[in-house]
Amino acid sequence: MIKHRLVCLLAATGIACSLFAQATPSPSRAPGEQKILDVMHSISSHTLLEYVRLLSSEEYEGRLTGTPSYNKAAQWTADMFQRWNVKPLGDRGSYFQEFPNPYTLVLDGGELTLHVPVSGKDTLRKTYRYEAEYYPGSTSDAGTVTAEVMYVGYGMTAPELGYDDYRGIDVKGKIVMFEPEIPVSPVRQPDLFMKWRPYSFHDYKMKNAFAHGAAGVLYNYHIVNPNCVFIKGLVVSYVGRNVIQDVFMGTGKNRDSLVQRIRTRLSPASFPTGKTVTMRCATEHHTEGVARNVIGYIEGSDPVLKNEVIIVGGHLDHVGKNHLLMPGANDNASGVAVALGTAEALSKVSPGLRRSVLILLFGAEEQGVKGSEYYLGHPSVPNTQVKAFINLESIGRGEKLGVGAGKNYPALWEVVEQNNRRFIHRSISADTTANLARPRQDAAHFLWAKIPTIGIGTYGAPPVPVATYHTTQDKVEYITPEILEDICRLTFLSVVEMAR
Ligand SMILES: [Zn+2]
Repeated sequence: MIKHRLVCLLAATGIACSLFAQATPSPSRAPGEQKILDVMHSISSHTLLEYVRLLSSEEYEGRLTGTPSYNKAAQWTADMFQRWNVKPLGDRGSYFQEFPNPYTLVLDGGELTLHVPVSGKDTLRKTYRYEAEYYPGSTSDAGTVTAEVMYVGYGMTAPELGYDDYRGIDVKGKIVMFEPEIPVSPVRQPDLFMKWRPYSFHDYKMKNAFAHGAAGVLYNYHIVNPNCVFIKGLVVSYVGRNVIQDVFMGTGKNRDSLVQRIRTRLSPASFPTGKTVTMRCATEHHTEGVARNVIGYIEGSDPVLKNEVIIVGGHLDHVGKNHLLMPGANDNASGVAVALGTAEALSKVSPGLRRSVLILLFGAEEQGVKGSEYYLGHPSVPNTQVKAFINLESIGRGEKLGVGAGKNYPALWEVVEQNNRRFIHRSISADTTANLARPRQDAAHFLWAKIPTIGIGTYGAPPVPVATYHTTQDKVEYITPEILEDICRLTFLSVVEMAR
C-alpha cells in the first residue's frame, strides 16, 4: 500500500514538474516521499476542529475587523505561526499588515414595528423578532425613525441607463424599502450587466437613499452584513420575508411579481406603501478602526526558485456580534483552521521546498473584501512572482469538493485533482468563474489581478435544520471535522507539489 502510494505521489509530482519548471535539481535536504506522507497523516481533524471552536468562541466576538477582539484573534494566529517557525512578512517585521478600517458595533437588538391602521383611527402594532424577521443594520447610525415606507425597487438612480427608482416619488424623511443587486443577470446579460454593475453595491444604494433624503432603510437582505457604508443620519434594518409581505399587504401589489416586472421591462415600479414603521438601532461607530492581514512566510530553499511563491489564504474575519454573537465557524474559521493546519504541516517539511509559501489571513473580507484588495496593492512579494493562490472559504461542511476557477486554471486543478484521486478520494469537480459581479470572495481580487487562482469549496451535505449563513447559528456544532482534515491534507499535498 505504501509502495503504491509512493509511486502515485511521484507520478503526481511528475505532473507538477511540467507545470512548475524546475531550474535546478532537488536539493538533498528535500523531504522524501515517506516524510511527506507521514506529515500528511499527522494532520488531524481533532486539532483543526479545536481551531474552529476557539476562533468561533465568545472570546473573539465574531472577529469583526478593527475591533480589539479581531486583533486578539489575529495575534493568536501570529503566535501559532511563530510556534511553527513560520516567519513574519507584514509591516516592520511583524506578522501584520495594517490599513484603515472603520467599523460599527451593534449594541442591542433594536426594534422594528409596523403600525397597521384598523377601522378608522385605531392602529395595531406588530413588532418583529430579532434575527427571525430582521436585524439592525450592521453599519446603521444610532437612532429611531417612525415614517411611511416607500418601496423603491432596486434603489438606483442611473441617468445614463434611463433608469431611476426615485423618479416621481418623494422620500424625504421617509423610510425606503429596496432590493439587493440589480435587475439584470451577469450570466444571461453579461454586457448589459457591466453597465449596471456599479449600482449593485450596498454602499451605493445606501448613499443614494440618503442623497434623496431618506431617514431610514428597510433592506431586503436578511443576513448580518457589515459590508456597507456608515452614514450619519441614516438608520438601517435588514428585513426578511415577513416584514416585506406585511408592508405590501393591502397595497394591491405583490412584491415578487413587481420585481419580475422591473426585471423584464427594466423600468421602475416605485410607490408609497401607506404603511408606517418604527425602526430603532443602537450602534456605535468607530472611525479609528484599523484592519490587519496576517502574513506568514516559509522561505524556499532554492536560491532562484524561492522567488516564486505559492499563497494559501482565507479570511480571518467574520461579521462580529450584531448584538448577539455571530460565531462564523464555517465562515470562515473553517478556512483559517485549514490554512493553519497547512502552515504547520509545511513547516515540518521545511526547509526542503524550493519555492516559497505565503500563508495569508485576510481582514475585512466581510466589510467589502478589502483585505485581499489591500494586500494586492501592497504585496509582500511582487504579484508577478505568485505562481498560485489557493483560497480557503467556508469549507467546514459538505461531503464533496468543488474547485472554483479550476477550469480557468487547469494546471492548478490537475495538481489538486490528482492528489485527491490518489490520497483523499472525495468527489471533486472544477468550476469556471466568469466573475463579473461585485467581489464576494478574496479569490475575486486575485483572479482580477491575473494571478493563477483556485478556491477550494465544499458542497453536498445534508442541510442543517437552521439558517447558518451570517446568523447566530454558524456554530462549531455544524462543522464536519472529517472534511476539514481531508481539505487540509489535500491543500498540503498540493502546495508541496507546487512548491518543491
Ligand atoms: Zn461571510
